[in-house]
Amino acid sequence: MTDATLSVTQSRLETFAREYLNTLGASIRETGPRWHVRLPDHVDVPFIHGREFTVGLGQQPDEHVDGHLLAPDSEFAQQLLEEASSMASVGHVSVSTEEIEEYEYPEWIAASDVRVAGASFTPYYDRNAVVALVKVGVETVSEYQTQFLEAIAIDMSSKQPLPSLADTVLNSFFEPETTSTEPLFESSAESDPLSQVGHDTFSEVIAECQDVAIENLRDSITNIRASASRSADSEFDEYRQLQEQRLSNLKDDLDSVSRRLEKVAEEVEHSDSHQQRVEALQKREELQAEKEDLENKQAEILRKKQTGFEERRREIYNRHSLKIVTAPVVGTVVSYERGEITFQLESERSSDSLQVPYAAGVGTTDNASCNHCQASLSTENHIVIADGIKCRSCSQN
Ligand SMILES: [Zn+2]
Repeated sequence: MTDATLSVTQSRLETFAREYLNTLGASIRETGPRWHVRLPDHVDVPFIHGREFTVGLGQQPDEHVDGHLLAPDSEFAQQLLEEASSMASVGHVSVSTEEIEEYEYPEWIAASDVRVAGASFTPYYDRNAVVALVKVGVETVSEYQTQFLEAIAIDMSSKQPLPSLADTVLNSFFEPETTSTEPLFESSAESDPLSQVGHDTFSEVIAECQDVAIENLRDSITNIRASASRSADSEFDEYRQLQEQRLSNLKDDLDSVSRRLEKVAEEVEHSDSHQQRVEALQKREELQAEKEDLENKQAEILRKKQTGFEERRREIYNRHSLKIVTAPVVGTVVSYERGEITFQLESERSSDSLQVPYAAGVGTTDNASCNHCQASLSTENHIVIADGIKCRSCSQN
C-alpha cells in the first residue's frame, strides 16, 4: 500500500494557527520564535486562559513553560486543531481539474526520459472521498506519550487510500490564503454533506482512516514499542538485581543471628545466676523471632525467584505496554472528478500518446501496466518510446 500520510509540518501548522487566530480577531506580534498573541475581549477559547499569551514555535516544551508550544506533536497544536474543527461541522469541498492547473505525472513518466508535451483530462464522473486528520496517541501507563497527526484520504466507495488527495486538501486547510485570486476549492452548496453520503458510510470510512493512520505509523510505533520494552527490561533487571542483593543481605543477617544464637545458648547453659539465665533466655527468644522473620523474608523472595519473579515481571511489562488511541480531529467529504487523462509523450526519436485512468487531485488512479508485456510500470520499469510506448524491460529485449 502506498504511504498515505502527509506529515503536519511546522510551517503548515504555523500557517494554520496564524490563520485560525486571525479568524478569531487576534493580533499577533512576532519576536523570533515566539508569538505574543492578544485576543479580542469577546472571544473565549476554552484551552487558553487570559486575553494575552505567548506561543513558542517548535521549541522544546521546557523552554516555554510560561506559554503555549506550537509544534506538530504539542498539546496546544492538538487543541487548536480540535477547536478549529469543532467550530465547523463536517466540511465539504470539491476538487476539480478546473481549479488545479498542473497535472500530476505518474512516477513511471517522471522517472523516464520521455517528455510530456501535453496532457488533457476528461472527467467522467464525480466520486466522494473522506479526508481526515487523525490524531494518534501512543502511550504507556508510566513514561511515554507521543502524539502524531496523520492526514488520510480514502475513497468512499473503493476504500482506496488517496495520498495525493490528502495532500491537496490538507494544503487548503493549512494554506487557506493561496497566491491565486481564485479560491482553489469551492465549498459546495449542500448544507449537510453527511446527509448526502450517509452517516454510517462516513463513520465507516473515518474508522478506516484511523486504521490507515496506525498502519502508516507502524515503524514509529515499532520503535516506541522497542524503546518501551527496553525500559521494561532494564526496570525488571534492576528489580532482579535488587532481589539478589536482598537475598545476599538476608543471608548475612541470618548468619549473624545464628552466631548470636549460639553465643546466647552458651550463656543460657553457663549462666551464673537465675537473673542472668532469665535475661539470656529472653534474648534467645528475641533472636529466634528475628531469625524467623529473616527466614520468612528469605523464603518469600526465594518463592518469587523460583517463578522468575513472574508476578513482578508481568506488572512491569504491563506498565510499559503501549496503548494506542486514535481520534479524528478533522473530517471532510471531498468530491473529486475521476476520468481519463491523455498524455502526449515525446522522446528524442518519436512521439505517441497514452491514456490512463486519472482523478483530479489524486493523479493516476490505477496501477498502470505495459501494453506489450503487461508488466507493471514503476520508477524502475518506466516507459520508453521505441516503436510505440513500451516498458523499459520490453524495450531491452
Ligand atoms: Zn513491457
